[in-house]
Formats: sequence, structure tokens, C-alpha cells
Amino acid sequence: MNEATPRMVLRYDGQAHSIVHCGAGALDDLGNLLGGLARPPRRAILCSDSNVSVLHGERASRALVSAGIQVEQVMIAAGEEHKNLETVARCYREFAALAVERGDVVVALGGGVLGDLFGFVAATYLRGLRLAQAPTTLVAQVDSAIGGKVGVDLPEGKNLVGAFKHPELVVADEDLLRTLPDAEWIAGTAEVAKAGVIADAQLFTWLESDPSGWRQRSIPLGPILGAAIAVKAKIVEEDVLETGSRMYLNYGHTFGHAVEAAAGYGVLRHGEAVGWGMAMEARLAAAVELSNAGFVARQDRLLRNLGLLAPLPPVKPDHALAYLYRDKKVRDGRIRWALPTTAPGACVVRDDVPSELVRAVLERTLAGDDIGG
Ligand code: NAD
Repeated sequence: MNEATPRMVLRYDGQAHSIVHCGAGALDDLGNLLGGLARPPRRAILCSDSNVSVLHGERASRALVSAGIQVEQVMIAAGEEHKNLETVARCYREFAALAVERGDVVVALGGGVLGDLFGFVAATYLRGLRLAQAPTTLVAQVDSAIGGKVGVDLPEGKNLVGAFKHPELVVADEDLLRTLPDAEWIAGTAEVAKAGVIADAQLFTWLESDPSGWRQRSIPLGPILGAAIAVKAKIVEEDVLETGSRMYLNYGHTFGHAVEAAAGYGVLRHGEAVGWGMAMEARLAAAVELSNAGFVARQDRLLRNLGLLAPLPPVKPDHALAYLYRDKKVRDGRIRWALPTTAPGACVVRDDVPSELVRAVLERTLAGDDIGG
């Protein structure tokens, strides 16, 4: 066992709980960690995608086998376009062919697409299997693997079918992030910066102190990753079913989702859209005097230094507005915004932002008037 691995235990309403292990080399402890659970599994279904299985599948398999756990492997094609019910159905059939039992543990080794999809399979096959998440992207380590939201896309929209399924174990090994393409790293960085803005001023200033070191992955990643994971874990623990403070995690995601959808899925990465969403939502906060121009400029500078806020593809404001008002966060026609204040580290939920301001911020940004560069 790697003694240096930081460990967090998330408890949900005193019922389910997730053990989160993070740190360099944590994947090598996967088998021992599963073996240390109250009910050690006899067999693991190691699930990955076509990229991750080549890069990290062997190491994960070795970690399981060396702990005496029998391993079966299931692989899907990489990419958001495979996060759908057709892939889920194929996985159910493979699980049936492997005679998967309720006591087996699904180990989701991959990014957010893989974790969301196999989390959903684990939530539904045989009315629920055991689940461990071994996230391999920045987005998955600091965001999607923690919190229990799993699901797949429909042609009508992203993540429309899903469930809450908390993993018993999350193993976040920063070494796996070394093989991530730069564009995926930069996109994931938006979620790290978001964590700083909404809940951790020190995390924000760490990023500000050496953005190019972070961008090049040349500085120790552990403290920043650990802080971002802790922000997500704490907020989820406080609000498991997303009825209150979990709303804060949506900072950057309301405008972000609208722009991502209006650009056409696959044009912008989710994190790239979230970076733009943060820039726009900070402007909205300044317009309602929660925030100010100083914070807007400070956050823009950091996002740009981290490689975010690259020029947007053409997006029609009316098209983005139509998506905005179809968002899950709209109640009775009012959007619930998670907005920053004048300094990083705190966030406020507001549902009284005038729609003219929303339109004005969106139009200015999409026209490149305000943010460009
Ligand atoms: P992804 O899973 O598609 O991974 C991005 C790409 O990187 C893929 O091609 C993948 O094969 C590859 N990859 C993964 N790990 C790698 C590694 N270590 N080295 C090299 N390549 C690697 O994308 P993502 O950004 O991780 O996740 C996006 C998905 O996460 C979206 O579907 C989004 O809806 C979902 N998400 C869910 C939640 C949640 O709470 N459930 C939160 C945020 C995002």
C-alpha cells in the first residue's frame, strides 16, 4: 500500500459512502484497496475505452490480479458519440455473456464518458452492481468520478438518461494524466479553476502563481488536484441530490452548456465551453453588482494564461438563448445562476437576473466585443 496516498471518505446522509484515494501511483493500489473494503470482491469487470485500455489497462489489470481478484475486461470505443443507450445495451449483453453477478465490481477506468456510461450500467444491470471509479482524465478526476451522477446522452440532448450511483471507491492517480493530450488537459483545467472561484481562494492563487507550469504539467500536480477534488467532495457531501449548494458546481456551466450545444456537439470541448461560461457569468455577476470589473479581469487573465478562452466558433445568440432556457436549472422560466463575488472562494445562487442582462452579456461575448483576445 502506498502510504503517501491521501484518502478522503465521503458520507452521504449516513448511508452510502465513497472512499477517495488520490496521489501518484494510486492505481497500483487498486486491488489492495478493493480487497480492503468491508466486502472484498471476488471478481472485477475492468471497463475502459479504446485509448485508455492501451495506455493504462495492463497496469490496472496487474494491480487487481496481484491482489487475488479475478479480472474480466470490457472495452468500448472512445468518444462522446458512444455515450448512448446503444453502447449501454451492448455492454449489458457482454455482462450477460460473462455471467456478471451482483457481487462483482465494475471498475470504470477512463474519462468522464467512460465513467458516466459504466456508472449507469452498474446502476441498472441486475438492478445494481458494485462500482469503483478509476478516472484517467482531469475532468474525471476533479469532477465526474465524484458525486454519483451517471448517465448517457440521447439525440435530443446530453445526459438526459441517468441515475445517482455512488462508487464505493475512487482511485485518482495523477500519473495517468501525463498521457492526456494537451487539449484535454486545458479543457479539464476549467473545472479546476471553477473549484477555486466557487470555494477555494488558495487554489485560485496557486494557479495564478504559475499558470504555465500547470499548463505544461511541470509543477507538482498533487496539491492542486487534491484541493479541487476536496471542493467537489465537500459540496457533494453537503448536498447529495443537488437540491441546494451543489448548484455552486454549475458555475460556468449555464452559459457554457448553451454555447457548447449551440456550437454543435463536438465543436467545443465541454471544458472549453465552461471557460467561456465562467467569463460570461462573471460579467453577469458584475452587472448585478455581486462582482466587479476587477474580478472579471483577474479571472479572464487566469483563464487565458491557462490556455482557455481561445476564439469561439460562430454561434448565433438566439440559438444559444434557446438552449439556455431549456436548461435543467430553469424553474418557471427563471434561470438559477451560480455567480461569483468580488474575490475567488465564494459563490451565490440568484434567480432574479434580468433576462435583458443575460442577452446583453451573451451577445457581446459572441460578437467578440468584450472578451476577445
Ligand atoms: P472523455 O472521457 O471523452 O475523454 C477524453 C479523451 O481522452 C478520450 O478520447 C479518452 O479516450 C482519452 N483519454 C482518457 N484518459 C486518457 C489518458 N490518461 N491519456 C490519454 N488519453 C486519455 O472526456 P472527459 O472530458 O473526461 O469527460 C467528458 C464527459 O464527462 C462528458 O460526457 C460529460 O458529460 C461528463 N461529465 C460528467 C460529470 C458528472 O458529474 N457525472 C461531470 C463533468 C463531466
